[in-house]
This record gives sequence, C-alpha cells and structure tokens, in this order.
Amino acid sequence: MALPSICSAGPTAIVIHGGAGTIDREKMSAEVEARYRKTLAEAVAAGHRVLERGGRSQDAVISAIVVMEDSPLFNAGRGAVFTNEGEVELDASIMLGEDLNAGAVTGVKKVRNPILLAERIMANSPHVMLMGEGAEAFARTQQLEFVDNEYFQTEQRRRQLEHAIARDQDLAAVEPVTDTYESRKFGTVGAVALDQQGNIAAATSTGGMTNKRFGRIGDSPIIGAGTYADNNACGISATGHGEYFIRAAVAYDICARVKYLGVNLRTAANTVIHTTLVKIGGDGGVVGLDPSGEVVYAFNTTGMYRASIDTSGELDVGIFQQP
Ligand code: ASP
Repeated sequence: MALPSICSAGPTAIVIHGGAGTIDREKMSAEVEARYRKTLAEAVAAGHRVLERGGRSQDAVISAIVVMEDSPLFNAGRGAVFTNEGEVELDASIMLGEDLNAGAVTGVKKVRNPILLAERIMANSPHVMLMGEGAEAFARTQQLEFVDNEYFQTEQRRRQLEHAIARDQDLAAVEPVTDTYESRKFGTVGAVALDQQGNIAAATSTGGMTNKRFGRIGDSPIIGAGTYADNNACGISATGHGEYFIRAAVAYDICARVKYLGVNLRTAANTVIHTTLVKIGGDGGVVGLDPSGEVVYAFNTTGMYRASIDTSGELDVGIFQQP
C-alpha cells in the first residue's frame, strides 16, 4: 500500500519583466521584437525548470535573472546603462516571502552577476545591503565571478549616454535625463516565483538610469521600493523611474494593500501603478504573484517586457500594452 504523502506539492508559477517604458510597436523591427520575445521565454523557462523539479523559488528567480543579466538586451549586467562618468554601476536585490529575509547590493562595477551577490549577502552576511567597493570585497570572499567594467558596456548604451549628455546641458545637474525614446525603455529585469512549498521569492537587477551621477541609487536594490515578498501577501518586482518608486514604497505598498485591506493583488497593483504613482508623476510597472500563484502585470507606460508561466504551465510573453 502506498504511504500517504506528508506534504503534497503545491502549484508553481513564475513571472518576469525586462523593463517598462516607452516601447512603441511601430518603432521596433520584427527582428528586434523576436529577439526580446525569445530571451524572455528562455529566462522564464529557466526559472520554471527549477520550480518543476521541486526547487526553491529563490533559485528560480535567480536562474531567470541570470539569463537576462547575461543578455545585452536588458539594462542589467551586460548591456546595462552608463553613468555620467561613462561606466556601468549595478544594483540588485532579492527577498524571500517565507521569513522576510533579504539581500541587496548597490554600485558594483565588476561582479558579473549582481543578483548572485545579493543572494550571498542575504545568505552569508549579517547585513541586508552592501555598496560599492565593500560589496565587491565581500563578493571576493564568496568566489563570485569578476569581469572588467568593459564586459558590461555596449555600443548602443554608449550612444544613449552621449544622447542624454547632449540633451542634459541645460538641465539641473541632478536631473536624470529620461526624455529620449531609448532611455525611456527602463530595461531593468526582475522575477517573482512561487515554489511547490508555497514560498514566494522576488528579485530585481539593474544598471539604474542612463547618465546617473553622484552615486545615484534607484528603487531596484531597495527592499520595499523595487522588490518585496511576503508569503502572506504577494511578491513584487518593479521597473520604472526609481525616484518615484522609492517615494511611493511601491512594492511594499502593493503587498500591504493585499495584507491589510484584503484586496486582491490585481486591484492592489493597479491602484498603486495607475493612481498613486501617476499622481506624483512616476512611470513604470510591476510584475507580481500571490500565494495561489495568480500572476499579475501592471504598468502605466506604453510597454513592459514581460513573461510568465502560470500554475497550469501556460507560457505568456508580452511587450506592448496589447500583447
Ligand atoms: N527602476 C530602475 C531605477 O530607477 C530603472 C529601471 O527600471 O529600468 O534604477
């Protein structure tokens, strides 16, 4: 006689984004669109494979993000945007819904996959967030792979910086330039997953905003702004104009609405993205999922690179407002 299983495997789901912004169908060639769709599908499948074989949601979100960090298409890892000084400075964060554990890193220039460093900070240090050279010193103790800053740099991103600097001449020194077509595709990457044990994890990785200066830090590495996970509410990863996402504590606010107001995740995400953020002038979006595995996208821009594999195993990939 078969023994009754002690704990049955729960549903799994994963949702990812590759940045929100002004993404016009008319301005994107079929070839470029196909490349984005292919890489998004590969990234979400990499995360889903982990979940299917009973792996942890934290490993699923990391697997998905590493694919996007390694791709030059997205503003994370290779292909990240340039700072005003002509370098790449990377931020990342991860959070677990089971115990609210979290790790974050900001301003690293040589760690190949910043999301791996965020995870090590969470797992192997007594801290939540490390910055710059200190973070890189810690990364060396973790045997993480190092690369020259040039590894991250692409020609397209350099042109974006030149364009941004040219347009920036009359602007206040601290104003990030975001009003060019290209730089308004924010391009940050993120992932949220639910594993068979019912644990949610959320993670985000970015180069920040083109032409950033003075050590600017956006929302992506800030727990509660760009990333949040709580098994009793939801998991969220954000992309958009970080200054606004920090001020509105976007990721936490969405989870708090689910937890304390008892509204569903879709309602909570839509309220924050389409009302709270719009009121203060912030553009961007989020992906998220709730403890049942219900996947949600919300964005107030013309597009958001996104993909999911839901609890029934169905793959969805989208870029524009209408998929
Ligand atoms: N949220 C990121 C930041 O402000 C940018 C992005 O989403 O692409 O750093």
